[in-house]
Amino acid sequence: MAFIVTEACIRCKFQDCVQSCPVTCFHEGANMLVIDPEACIDCGACVPECPTEAIIRDTAPEAGKWLAFNRKYAALWPAIREPGDIPEDADDWIDVEGKLADQFSPEPASR
Ligand code: SF4
Ligand code: SF4
Repeated sequence: MAFIVTEACIRCKFQDCVQSCPVTCFHEGANMLVIDPEACIDCGACVPECPTEAIIRDTAPEAGKWLAFNRKYAALWPAIREPGDIPEDADDWIDVEGKLADQFSPEPASR
């Protein structure tokens, strides 16, 4: 089993989760992170660090399409060990729903 990142991360990307991961699972897109489910050792350390509660088990009922989504973008985006810049308007997007439809960017992060 693994943990995965879901829609709540889009445009929030606080990155509190990154340094809690002992095996560098997180990969960075332009406006969200994903977890490589093949690398995740299921430790759960990142879960309480996320202020948007975006990280869930891949077996959770609401996981749905997000396991394949995390697997896909983990293969396309760079792995990160350290948090980078937090979007200035991250707080404004915490409780916004439907972000995948009109706010998600498939581009990798550029640091
Ligand atoms: S802490 Fe949560 S919102 Fe922030 S980058 Fe990690 S998964 Fe995304
Ligand atoms: S559950 Fe553990 S191994 Fe998996 S992404 Fe979170 S911190 Fe990393």
